[in-house]
Amino acid sequence: MKIKLGCIADDFTGATDLANNLVRSGMRVVQTIGVPTAPLAADVHAVVVALKSRTIPAAEAIAQSLAALKWLQAQGAEQIYFKYCSTFDSTPEGNIGPVTEALMDALGTDFTIATPAFPDNGRTVFKGYLFAGNVLLNESGMQNHPLTPMNDANLVRVMQAQTKRRVGLIDYKTVAQGAETIRERIAALRAEGVGVAVVDATSNDDLLLLGPALKGMPLVTAGSGVAIGLPANFGLQPSLQASQLPATSGLQAVVSGSCSVATNAQVAHFKATGRPAMAINPAALMHGQSDAQVQQVLAWAAPLLKDGPVLVYSTAEPDAVKAVQAQLGVAEAGALVEHALAAVARGLVDLGVKQLVVAGGETSGACVQALDIAQLQIGPQIDPGVPWCHAPSEDGGVHITLKSGNFGTEDFFSKAFTVLA
Ligand code: ADP
Repeated sequence: MKIKLGCIADDFTGATDLANNLVRSGMRVVQTIGVPTAPLAADVHAVVVALKSRTIPAAEAIAQSLAALKWLQAQGAEQIYFKYCSTFDSTPEGNIGPVTEALMDALGTDFTIATPAFPDNGRTVFKGYLFAGNVLLNESGMQNHPLTPMNDANLVRVMQAQTKRRVGLIDYKTVAQGAETIRERIAALRAEGVGVAVVDATSNDDLLLLGPALKGMPLVTAGSGVAIGLPANFGLQPSLQASQLPATSGLQAVVSGSCSVATNAQVAHFKATGRPAMAINPAALMHGQSDAQVQQVLAWAAPLLKDGPVLVYSTAEPDAVKAVQAQLGVAEAGALVEHALAAVARGLVDLGVKQLVVAGGETSGACVQALDIAQLQIGPQIDPGVPWCHAPSEDGGVHITLKSGNFGTEDFFSKAFTVLA
């Protein structure tokens, strides 16, 4: 069971986004949480190793990425894909540049591409400039990001600032002419001593034109968009089998710790359908009362589960969140709620829940940890960027979907179960 494509993602939800694109283009995919300690158990075309390396010190990001590379190579990976954010989230020191160069060195390759373009999601690159929606990256709000403020939309400059190798550009005119012209341009750039080329893409068709030119390139670095053009290089076409998961069984539940606008609407919608819902009040978790709260929630849920999905949520409107944060501190409030919801998720699974929706990026991380999940097979998409997954275990495993912040339509919490059925 050798894999074809080995992917290294610098954060968890970004990994899922990439895996989802690969599945939709015909690959069977497993996402791992961190670098696995054991060989791969499933028969898949690609593995996405999810790291949390976006904003850690560059040396640590390199070490983790190289460990992931080594494991992926041991599984037979023919091509490596380094996945970063579609807004190219990085600091002047990295980590996109340093990790790219470390992977190039380890793979013994002198050339790779770099493009966060994903036009269907509003990320386009034109003459090397990255647009988020209708505006340049540095006018998109990303200039105010707390950890990775992006003050320059020119990706050639941004990448050059964090890379020792020369950075060049494959522009939209070249891309429009297709794989052969792109390959000629790559050869010319290489001859000039360019090691990394930013690639323009203003439509998803551009990504499909780019795909064949990347065949055989040892390392590709990109957002999740470039993935749509790669499975065809391995003779794979979109298919239903790619997203097939084991048959579903067991009870259904939703755990929501996201306070995003979309999630607030999803909680309201679920309640309006008349399904049972229980709110967790962060103040009630203080002073060591978290365990008692969790037990109370589980006692409430136990008799209801046989009749259909239940919702447990801490989701609240901004004013309520601010009030709690003022009382507890931002970090403390977050940690208390994440811990309680993760314990609820664990308890629900122990009660027989085998189909679980989790809302919130950080909340998802906490729940996956509490459920001891190390590998997820990626299944059918519920909404753009949000697939069902299956975490195998001795007792048949759990179907789980991890919805970050503003993803999903209003009826997501009900629709998800329909998609799985
Ligand atoms: P999103 O994907 O929407 O950003 P996250 O789960 O990543 O959601 O982040 C939400 C954070 O807010 C978590 O740390 C969570 O524990 C915290 N939180 C959830 N509900 C509340 C609440 N009612 N009051 C304060 N903090 C909350």
